[in-house]
Amino acid sequence: MMPDTSEDIRLPLACPSCGSHLYRVNQVRNPTDEVHCASCKRYLCDYHEAAEMLEKGPGDEAEALIEEVVNRRHH
Ligand SMILES: [Zn+2]
Repeated sequence: MMPDTSEDIRLPLACPSCGSHLYRVNQVRNPTDEVHCASCKRYLCDYHEAAEMLEKGPGDEAEALIEEVVNRRHH
């Protein structure tokens, strides 16, 4: 069995696929680690972006960052 080195984090950004706010990240939390939805496993963003969202908390700056991540999905 593979050791489970991931943990769940809650982000202000809802998953574009299923609307969940729960994401799975590696416990090591490298800035370049990928953050995936805990429910549907969809790739959302890199960990440094998720960390930035959490750091900024609710507010305009976080909103702008969320928009940037979401918009990038369409390209
Ligand atoms: Zn999802």
